[in-house]
Amino acid sequence: TFELRGKRVFVAGHRGMVGSAVVRRLADEDCEVLTASRAELDLMDQAGVRRFMAARRPDAVVMAAAKVGGILANDRFPVDFLQDNLVMQTNVIESAFRSDVRKLLFLGSSCIYPKFAPQPIPEDALLTGPLEPTNEWYAVAKIAGLKLCQAYRRQYGVDYISAMPTNLYGPGDNFDLDSSHVVPALMRKAHEAKRRGDKSLAVWGSGKPMREFLHVDDAADALVWLLKNYAGDSHVNVGSGEDITIAELARTVASVVGADVEVTFDPTKPDGTPRKLMDVSRLFATGWRPRYTLRGGLEETYAWFLQHIEEGD
Ligand code: GDP
Repeated sequence: TFELRGKRVFVAGHRGMVGSAVVRRLADEDCEVLTASRAELDLMDQAGVRRFMAARRPDAVVMAAAKVGGILANDRFPVDFLQDNLVMQTNVIESAFRSDVRKLLFLGSSCIYPKFAPQPIPEDALLTGPLEPTNEWYAVAKIAGLKLCQAYRRQYGVDYISAMPTNLYGPGDNFDLDSSHVVPALMRKAHEAKRRGDKSLAVWGSGKPMREFLHVDDAADALVWLLKNYAGDSHVNVGSGEDITIAELARTVASVVGADVEVTFDPTKPDGTPRKLMDVSRLFATGWRPRYTLRGGLEETYAWFLQHIEEGD
């Protein structure tokens, strides 16, 4: 196990949804959290990252910085998704090693797995088939990142690990209808339907696809848990282990929001992959479990939305 007490932990990407949740979670540990603003540290600048690491001397690093975006963004800016992520993660991992960081946690995503991976998806499905073409730029960078951690472990014996979270939702999410994922999109739509007195909530696609969701604070809890308790060669899936249909999700969101609506389906919009569920037996075998139920997590997220998004409108 890695003792966090008294340690200095650098969180790269602390302004993002996951990074900020990790910073909140680390406040419960007896450690010092290091962060850097964009003005202070440009992760694309190798010399700057090396200088930062050498000057601040973290004991552990959480790499939660990444260029992220939806289908449209991936399609339009493939160079950014592949190159920026490769450069940032390589700079952080290499500089950490040069500054004697012994523990590093790299964050990926479930899109690293082949499009037709078995469900639930075990860690060893990695590199067994073609990727989903719409986000392969991002996925290839993330695969390179987890492999680089594995390579450092094998060549230099440092404890660099990787975690692959499922679909996350919660505070800090993107609630913009054009670019958001399904949970914030449905929450905003249900909220607006309630405000306007609409009787229907339009869901993209057939409502039949199944997705797994994890509250970002549960994800952060799992990541800190892995930082402390996991030291294996393989990456680890981070999920809830349960999935539901999009139709069921929409009804739950409507109920949480208090919108008296009927869920309707818009077949002109894409369904995407029919099912995406992580096999979380490796994570659960370490003793970790999520705390939020989906409903409880959605209630907490709606309260955050009302405070932070709705008031800003
Ligand atoms: P995915 O998990 O990569 O497919 O990403 P999304 O979170 O964007 O979509 C998940 C599923 O929710 C897909 O089947 C979408 O068609 C469906 N969905 C239903 N309504 C919406 C919506 O308003 N916005 C989004 N983004 N997805 C929706």
